[in-house]
Amino acid sequence: MSIAKLEHQVAASTGGSDGSGRLRVVHGRQEVNLPAAERAVRDLLVALGRDPSSPHLADTPRRVAESFTELLTPREFDLTTFPNDEDYDELVLARNIPVQSLCEHHMLPFTGVAHVGYLPGERILGLSKLARVVELFARDLQVQERLTVQVANWLQEHLAPKGVGVVLEAEHLCMSVRGVQARGSRTITSSVHGVLREDAASRQEFFMLARDV
Ligand SMILES: [Zn+2]
Repeated sequence: MSIAKLEHQVAASTGGSDGSGRLRVVHGRQEVNLPAAERAVRDLLVALGRDPSSPHLADTPRRVAESFTELLTPREFDLTTFPNDEDYDELVLARNIPVQSLCEHHMLPFTGVAHVGYLPGERILGLSKLARVVELFARDLQVQERLTVQVANWLQEHLAPKGVGVVLEAEHLCMSVRGVQARGSRTITSSVHGVLREDAASRQEFFMLARDV
């Protein structure tokens, strides 16, 4: 079984009445209140014994508030799908999708990569969209386990593939720069559905390809 090279098929089928479908994906979370966030950062600096009126820190509350806003706001995207006209029934796997998220326990970043694969059903997905789905859930206060499950569940629900699998490898700043200071330690989580969960050979193949280094 080979890793899919679906880009060409998709490109070849995008002209005119190709049966492609688009679904606008927006996050349903509450918007950040920027002025309130800035005030809170100023208060935090005071509480930490720092002087927010110092020229060095004058602009820090705005920068911090904007940084968190960016890290917590996924970009909208169109979920583009195409009919699986060729009845492609092998694994489609996107490896090393960058992941940046914020741990909900410390509000410190965790970063790494996601490997997302699926066995197509009636529809196939524009490949870049897998990264967008990861971002949709990564730009939130998260734990890695939940992020992994959410990406897998969302794809299962919206793409209805025969199977879906997600592996996440990430380094957590709350583990590497504080606490146990386990620098370089990566946490690996996974979530699988359908054939990739139930069929031992498919499951094994997915994990072998996903973790290949
Ligand atoms: Zn943490």
